[in-house]
Order: sequence, then structure tokens, then C-alpha cells
Amino acid sequence: MISNSPGKLVVISGPSGAGKTTVLREVFQRASAPLVASISATTRQPRPGEQNGLDYHFLAPEEFARRRDSGAFLECCEVYGRGDWYGTLKGEVAPRLAAGKWVVLEIDVHGTLAVLEHYPDAVTIFLRPSSMAELERRLRERGTETEDALRRRLAVAAEELKSIERYRYQVINDDVELAVAELCRILTPDS
Ligand code: 5GP
Repeated sequence: MISNSPGKLVVISGPSGAGKTTVLREVFQRASAPLVASISATTRQPRPGEQNGLDYHFLAPEEFARRRDSGAFLECCEVYGRGDWYGTLKGEVAPRLAAGKWVVLEIDVHGTLAVLEHYPDAVTIFLRPSSMAELERRLRERGTETEDALRRRLAVAAEELKSIERYRYQVINDDVELAVAELCRILTPDS
């Protein structure tokens, strides 16, 4: 679709708790490519400290549905099967690609597959912990979920790991420094 635009689309997935947020924060500081984050829209409630327009566009379910019906999303889906919707707004992506930016989407596996239909040249990266046991340990340490929500996230993670071969790169995030370095290597423009 827009593969001849000057920018690049970068898609990063990985189970929640795999340390994506920490790693990406560093990568945004250090990578040599002109990275810009696409801010997703979601109907889930903000966590303590999260800011509207910065972490997500937090939308009421009716507003999310209205934008979905008007075709505003590049992709969107219900991520955890209990009514929380997430989606990438077209307005976050196309204008920045046209301006030569590398637009980074942090989305789930279903979203990635949908995006690849429109942008087959997207650079897809799966960021994962070395094992499910390590992932569970990290989620418990973070302590932001109820036991029920944590179980659901682990089940989704196990499901997502099955799609890992659909990604161009896999990066193991056991050591933040190593993962950041590897991502920065991947996100280096050809000279
Ligand atoms: P969290 O609720 O922990 O912020 O995010 C939960 C999951 O939603 C993450 O695995 C993330 O990849 C996914 N996600 C966030 N934004 C989007 C989006 O715009 N589209 C899709 N498909 N998934 C998203």
C-alpha cells in the first residue's frame, strides 16, 4: 500500500510483562533511526501513572466503536477477550511514514498480521522472555493485575508464542542492555 513512502513501519509484539516498555523507552533514546511511537487507542482503564494521549488514547467504548465504524483504524481488536479493545489509528501512521519517520507500533499478534496485509515490508519484531516461568515471575513482580487477569494474560502469551515465526526478528529480553542493543542494531538505517 504505502511501501514506497520514505518512512518505515516497525511492529513490536511480545507478552505483557516481557519488559517491552522498559526496553522501548531506551531504544527510543538510542536508536539512530528517526523513531516515533504510534499511540494506540484503547477502551481499557488507565493504570496509575498512565496519561491520555501519551501512553494511549483512552476512549469510551462508544467512541472507539464510532471510530471503528468510520474506518479510522488501520487495525483493531479485542485483546483479552473481556471487552477491552485496542487499535492503531491510521492518523498515527500514514502522515508520519510520509514524513520519513520510522513509526513504531506496539501491538499484539493479531494486529501484526492485519498490519502486514497493508504494509508487507513492515519490520516485525517479537520481544520475549526466555520462558513462560520467567514471564509469570515478572508479571507477579509488577503486581498490576488481579490473579484472574494475570492468568488470562499468561494464556494469551502462550497463544502468541505460537505465532512467533511470523515475525522477522525475535529478541530475547532477559538482559535489558542486550535487548536494547539488539533492537538498536535492527533499527539502524542502511547507510
Ligand atoms: P496493555 O494493556 O498491557 O497496555 O497492553 C496489552 C496488549 O495490547 C499488549 O500486548 C499490546 O501489544 C496490545 N496492544 C496495544 N495497543 C494495541 C493496538 O493498537 N492494537 C493491537 N492489536 N494490540 C495492541
